[in-house]
Amino acid sequence: MLRNDQLDQWDHDHFFHPSTHLGQFARGELSNRIVTGGEGVYINDRDGNRFLDAFAGLYCVNIGYGRQEVAEAIAAQAKELAYYHSYVGHGTEASVTLAKMIIDRAPANMSRVYFGLSGSDANETNIKLVWYYNNILGRPEKKKIISRWRGYHGSGLMTGSLTGLELFHKKFDLPFSQVLHTEAPYYFRRKDLSMSEADFVAHCASELEAMIEREGADTIAAFIGEPVLGTGGIVPPPAGYWAAIQKVLKKQDILLIADEVVTGFGRLGTMMGSTHYGIEPDIITIAKGLTSAYAPLSGSIIGEDMWKVLEQGTDENGPIGHGWTYSAHPIGAAAGVANLKLIDEMNLVANAGEVGNYFNAAMAAALGDHDHVGDVRGDGMLCAVEFVEDKYDRTFFDPTRKVGPSIAAALLKRDVIARAMPQGDILGFAPPLCLTREEADTVISATADAVKEVLG
Ligand code: PLP
Repeated sequence: MLRNDQLDQWDHDHFFHPSTHLGQFARGELSNRIVTGGEGVYINDRDGNRFLDAFAGLYCVNIGYGRQEVAEAIAAQAKELAYYHSYVGHGTEASVTLAKMIIDRAPANMSRVYFGLSGSDANETNIKLVWYYNNILGRPEKKKIISRWRGYHGSGLMTGSLTGLELFHKKFDLPFSQVLHTEAPYYFRRKDLSMSEADFVAHCASELEAMIEREGADTIAAFIGEPVLGTGGIVPPPAGYWAAIQKVLKKQDILLIADEVVTGFGRLGTMMGSTHYGIEPDIITIAKGLTSAYAPLSGSIIGEDMWKVLEQGTDENGPIGHGWTYSAHPIGAAAGVANLKLIDEMNLVANAGEVGNYFNAAMAAALGDHDHVGDVRGDGMLCAVEFVEDKYDRTFFDPTRKVGPSIAAALLKRDVIARAMPQGDILGFAPPLCLTREEADTVISATADAVKEVLG
């Protein structure tokens, strides 16, 4: 085993950490954390700390940490066959079984699964397939993609463009010109406070319609959105939002991509977020909960109508020119099969609905009346608390005060992990789906104490 001081030195000198202030880390102003183990909703670090991880890693460890069933499935697959590719009709029992299990859990009319490794590469795949589809249909101009401000769809070139958060564009020369951003379905942050929720939904739909009109429907290929805005602030949609948006898209023959990287496989108390909100997508992006992050794996679930056009495309043009070496990697696929079985056996979808609703209601009861809490919102095992300077005028804190990060740090001192969301003073919760009511109570009372420490 390496000594702690040796690990720290190498970490600061050689490890390029994602989403990190590089200068502060290199200078030692930002401390590191070396995680050594985990069980259920808890993780341990090498300094002997134990934290209740109320963000499930990056909202991905749906089954909780340390599940031996998945570890054993991974080990068995690695011993039998660690790798073979999936090009030109190849596969493994695990990858074929997993494809079938996914389609069985997806909304109606979903047909095929293309496997990738991350949510980002799955969304890159989706955009390529949408472009291919319109070329096959003889509509070469129909290529622009509409995303939402505050949407999060990854960190690649195209997916970073789709993401509607400034940090992911600034200094990277993004977004690409083929991407357009429309209004976020974020009722709490509506500009006009006199708007009712129904007015706001109508406003989101009419903004979208005006954008399509301005650009020309014959130039717009697809709309991409998360059922619940995730990294942009954990914001469930206002009532009727998805019905209003789908009406506009259907009228203009624009495809819908539901990015279910966070909401897929139980987080909202339903197997898929699309079913939860009555969304009828043409493509669904999945990752995170597909393997509970025990191994990297993502997927693009393609609807039957689109699949037919892709088939036609290869009849006309030869094999589809899109492949990753690690697509449908046997170890990821074995992890996925074991994980989906465990979600069923542990009844985690129902638990996410039940304990998630309790968690949201108890959080609102504990914090809703605080002078600096503007909004407590959530759905299933997703929850957010948004802090404001003045609750009655809904004025926000100056970002330089770093209220959200300070509360997350105060919570960490109490051995609970939540996430300070990147844009706004928002504390996000997305615990493993196995969270119990008692563990929910622990998170809520620690949060109330942390808020009191920072804001009084
Ligand atoms: N889509 C959504 C909704 C996400 O939340 C994320 C990651 O958080 C991604 C895509 C990108 O996934 P990855 O980080 O695996 O590339």
